[in-house]
Amino acid sequence: MHLRETVEQFKYCANTASEWCWHGDDGYHVTSKAKAEGALYDQLREDTELTANLVQKGIRQAVEAVKSGVERLKNDQDTSRPTFTADTAVYDKRSATFHHDHVSLSTPDGRIECDYILPDDTDIPPTKYVTDEDYEFRRATLHRRDGDWYLHASMLKDDDTHTTTEHRTVLGVDLGVNQLAVASTGRFWSADEFNHWKQEYEKRRGDLQQCGTRAAHDAIEGVKRKEDGRFEIFLHRVANEIVAEALSHNCSHIVFEDLTNIRENVPEASWHHLWAFRRLYENVAYKATEQGVKAVQVDPRNTSKRCSTCGFTHDNNRDGEEFACQDCGYQNHADYNAAKNIGLQYLRRRQNADDGGAPVDVRLNRGTLNVSGEYNLPASSEA
Ligand SMILES: [Zn+2]
Repeated sequence: MHLRETVEQFKYCANTASEWCWHGDDGYHVTSKAKAEGALYDQLREDTELTANLVQKGIRQAVEAVKSGVERLKNDQDTSRPTFTADTAVYDKRSATFHHDHVSLSTPDGRIECDYILPDDTDIPPTKYVTDEDYEFRRATLHRRDGDWYLHASMLKDDDTHTTTEHRTVLGVDLGVNQLAVASTGRFWSADEFNHWKQEYEKRRGDLQQCGTRAAHDAIEGVKRKEDGRFEIFLHRVANEIVAEALSHNCSHIVFEDLTNIRENVPEASWHHLWAFRRLYENVAYKATEQGVKAVQVDPRNTSKRCSTCGFTHDNNRDGEEFACQDCGYQNHADYNAAKNIGLQYLRRRQNADDGGAPVDVRLNRGTLNVSGEYNLPASSEA
């Protein structure tokens, strides 16, 4: 089967690249796409029969995963070399041609065409988006589930009157009790220091309360003032770093989850944490505004259960700090996945508000696969 061979070779590229990047030339991890491509591209083109574009996508997938692994190491978290086991391959407009009733996919045996299996009703997704001339495929992940092939695609409404590209880059931030903040760029701010101080503070206050004297009461007040000052300094530093992260990635918005119901969303949070989340948001909002960046909040529903790669949402996707999509196989730190979803949530809201667009899951009809045999991508699009 040609699709089967494609995902096998794609996996091979990703795993080979992951192995190379993780150990690196000289003991360092390689997180540069250009460097990894420079070192591996020719070899992987030799080793596989994939087109240039798919080989690059495989390498990039590995570099992304290695990057987030390195972030975890920086935060003293357990991690190991990323491995890719799911049957997936990433396509874009260079390696796939999306038509309204079928898609043409690049494979080791040239292009093959697959018909979509769609509901007849043209008003509901995915039929609506696939058949509507105004919607355009940008990127799609081919994957296999229970023996059937699916295409998870992102579609954008093609609309010249609304070119809001300057608002498309946002920084998503997930808040939590172990990682105080995790950004959608893969940067983590550990809550260890904060949690440690909090414990010390509670302990000292407990000891002093045992005394019950007036002097002890004054001492408690003193400890509290000192600790509050420490927390404030810490939160200011993290806020400054979050704003700097947004600026360095040219983000127009920093997106947080709505803090109104944070108590329910983060049940393990103590009142100290809830206070810290609010203060952090206030600090970021204030500092961001000074830099011309907006801080906004979005509905946090499902941001921890939803796969930021394919959109599949399920309770079983998340197990503590581990996120593993039960559908497409995407694996990463759960808070990092949530941070990406928070950013995506805002982008989706904007898209729905002013220029349409929707993620689409299209099932492929395996029964009508046929080899077209032709392979006629223009040379320039292969670069
Ligand atoms: Zn997924």
